[in-house]
Amino acid sequence: MKGHDCRTWLGFLCDEADGKKSPRLRAHLPDCPPCRAMLASLKRTVAALRRAPLGAKTPPRLNAVLSRRLRRS
Ligand SMILES: [Zn+2]
Repeated sequence: MKGHDCRTWLGFLCDEADGKKSPRLRAHLPDCPPCRAMLASLKRTVAALRRAPLGAKTPPRLNAVLSRRLRRS
């Protein structure tokens, strides 16, 4: 879909990567390759954070970091 702003989905993507299911996101993903790619990358990031010594919990700043990264791409 043209003009679609995936940043509006970032919160849902973060939740999904964190293991929380979002039915709205699930409905959106099949139509949106960029969001699917973003989710895959988020899941890798979350997994890496969980493996890190201090990464038992996803830091609150994750959303800001990812938001910056998304704007760049
Ligand atoms: Zn999207």
